[in-house]
Amino acid sequence: MENITVTSPLLPDLEEFHALLKEIWDSKWITNNGSFHKRLEAALAEYLKVPYVSLFTNGTLPLITALQALRITGEVITTPYSFVATTHSLWWNGIKPVFVDIDPATGNLDPARIEAAITPKTTAIMPVHVYGKPCDTEAIQAIADKYGLKVIYDAAHAFGVEVDGRSILEAGDMSTLSFHATKVYNTIEGGALVMHDAKTKQRIDYLKNFGFAGETEVVAPGINSKVDEMRAAYGLLNLRQVDDAIAARRKVAVAYREALRGVPGLSFFDDMPGVRHNYSYFPLFIDADKYGMTRDELYFKMKEAGVLGRRYFYPLISEFSTYRSLPSAAKENLPQAHKMADSVICLPMHHALSQEDVERVIAMVKQ
Ligand SMILES: *Cc1c(COP(=O)(O)O)cnc(C)c1O
Repeated sequence: MENITVTSPLLPDLEEFHALLKEIWDSKWITNNGSFHKRLEAALAEYLKVPYVSLFTNGTLPLITALQALRITGEVITTPYSFVATTHSLWWNGIKPVFVDIDPATGNLDPARIEAAITPKTTAIMPVHVYGKPCDTEAIQAIADKYGLKVIYDAAHAFGVEVDGRSILEAGDMSTLSFHATKVYNTIEGGALVMHDAKTKQRIDYLKNFGFAGETEVVAPGINSKVDEMRAAYGLLNLRQVDDAIAARRKVAVAYREALRGVPGLSFFDDMPGVRHNYSYFPLFIDADKYGMTRDELYFKMKEAGVLGRRYFYPLISEFSTYRSLPSAAKENLPQAHKMADSVICLPMHHALSQEDVERVIAMVKQ
């Protein structure tokens, strides 16, 4: 039997892609803000219901660039329950990450614990919409306003997520997206920064092009994060099918929930009222005593049978050697994050899972 992988890339139709490649070849314009680049930025802004989007070559550079653009220094409050790139972006800017525990109801940074971690050096908060579940953006903004802090959301998981019909990307000062092959929407490698005004968009566009504001003028020490025409064309085609992909993911989530609800020792998230979810992941939480097997035992048992779950997010970022010695990385400071990291397994979740695949995954977990 073939392996069932945790994810599978959404790929455009090859013939359609080929036709666009022909256009690019004919134009001989292959990068530097070409026509597909412009079209993809406009199409994404429309799809995501935001005024401004700036494309990037991956989902890590927009984090680094947002911190640069907002001139963030000192300490930034963030979550240990994420992909390492979130904290790495702080480190690359010479900023000290301060880990705050998560809310076990969502897996997101717990607003109730943020204030206690603020010091005179704190300049910003960097939360993550983990698994695409919206953070409590109102509570976070209230704290930010009270202390004069910026908020940069790592929204890598939150493509297309809306709360009461409005994009989650409206929250905070800026939000970042990842369009990596493993994500709900991909441009192979890619990402974006979402901002709220034209001036910031202009500044970001300078920063991602070495700081060039004209042929001979450099206004800031920028970086190179320009997206080429091939990937922009690929991205335009994928945008057309992303709604179908999200609908297919939703079906898988519904099937998992129906089959696994009530199984002793298993729990998972349900949809949140008023939220358009993107079903980017299906995290399942194992209570070993009640389930009769630890998370790792289940993980390896599944792996042996060719059902490849992933332990997202384990280990916590605060456990990696680079960050382990930070005072805020102490285990006692992060009990909920540790509990989640030690009990989570993400089940296979993508647009191309068949009914049989889903049944095979369910049978493995229910056994
Ligand atoms: C994927 C991801 C990133 C990094 O995105 P890349 O496109 O791989 O650079 C950052 N943060 C989170 C939470 C992610 O899941």
